Amino acid sequence: MTGSNPSWSRRKFLKTAGVAGVGSILAPTQPLFAASGEPKTIPTRPFGKTGEQVSMLSLGGIINFLSNQLLLKQAVNWGVTYWDTAHSYSGGRSEKGIGKYFARYPQDRKKIFLVTKSGAWSIKSMSRDLAESLERMQTDYADLFFVHGIRNISAMDDDTRAWADKAKAAGKIRFFGFSTHSNMAECLLGAADLGWIDAIMMTYNYRLMHSDEMRRAVDACVRAGIGLTAMKTQGGGQVRTDSETELRLAGRFLQKGFTDAQAKLKAVWQNPQIASICSQMPNMTILMSNVAAALDKTQLSTRDRSMLQQFARETRTAYCTGCTAICESCVEREAPIGDVMRYLMYCNSYDDYKLAADGFRKIPQKIRARLTRLDYSRAERNCPQGLPIARLIQEAKNKLEIS
Ligand code: SF4
Repeated sequence: MTGSNPSWSRRKFLKTAGVAGVGSILAPTQPLFAASGEPKTIPTRPFGKTGEQVSMLSLGGIINFLSNQLLLKQAVNWGVTYWDTAHSYSGGRSEKGIGKYFARYPQDRKKIFLVTKSGAWSIKSMSRDLAESLERMQTDYADLFFVHGIRNISAMDDDTRAWADKAKAAGKIRFFGFSTHSNMAECLLGAADLGWIDAIMMTYNYRLMHSDEMRRAVDACVRAGIGLTAMKTQGGGQVRTDSETELRLAGRFLQKGFTDAQAKLKAVWQNPQIASICSQMPNMTILMSNVAAALDKTQLSTRDRSMLQQFARETRTAYCTGCTAICESCVEREAPIGDVMRYLMYCNSYDDYKLAADGFRKIPQKIRARLTRLDYSRAERNCPQGLPIARLIQEAKNKLEIS
């Protein structure tokens, strides 16, 4: 099944396995249940200086959990006890589904490390969101509260710190931090300097983890005792990739007993500085596959990792690394290039049109209307990934605009 085996043709591979999206694609590679019939539970890792041990796989919550209660129950059974949701996810149905679960299984609340987020940009709105989130989830507290999707460490100002301290003192949150898809290394370095951030969830994968900048940022956070959770670990891009290396890689991993999607999880877990991977697992198949990857002790070899890096280099122009400080400052008017690239990735790589279109629609209409009229030539010249920004913005608008 490797590239040297002529019987493993491109057409046959694509027909059999497809190309990995948000999670793993094939059957689990090792038993998920002990001989006694009890589910095995996945390992935990220390979460910065919080004193908590969190499951190395976290259940990402852009899901309508109201109609996915079995997924929550089985996640608990396999020890996937770090749950990540947000006020905005699935129009509130993610948090309400968690609330429904806790109402039915109140004894499980203490087992769960529960994270929610708010994208509100004022302290007042953040308080309103937190109160509503707790009510929806039928709990008195969130274990961790994130400000959702910061682009710059200046969002963590004195007012935010005072808000976090107050919420902790009131027992509404235990820990505080932020998530980020943009300018991740700068945000991490800034947080390490601040000294009061407990945890961060950031885009982090085989494409990003080897840069000197990211290594320095992760080292600084670990020294500062900040718990780190990786997201977007599949490294799916704005443009669909179909390289020979990708096919060779997938065949190589299958021979070793796991899928390329599972290998991408392993690549991140092999860095012990990362406490957990937050993965979107909207169905039992992907949950089982990711749990199997977490239980499987097989490590990626040096050759495996270098092939992943080679693939990342070959497909560089298909992937936005979120360095929005570079491109967005090159455009005359406000243009959320990084956000648009992310929505296009949800559409093209995750095949999740609704998630993509919902995000795109949240860009204020005035800004959306002018997106395709702006001049991106300087941004394209400066983009370290060499992305055809203007073409991709047009593609996003064509695919995601809702009249
Ligand atoms: S489009 Fe290019 S410069 Fe802008 S965030 Fe993406 S990779 Fe960075």
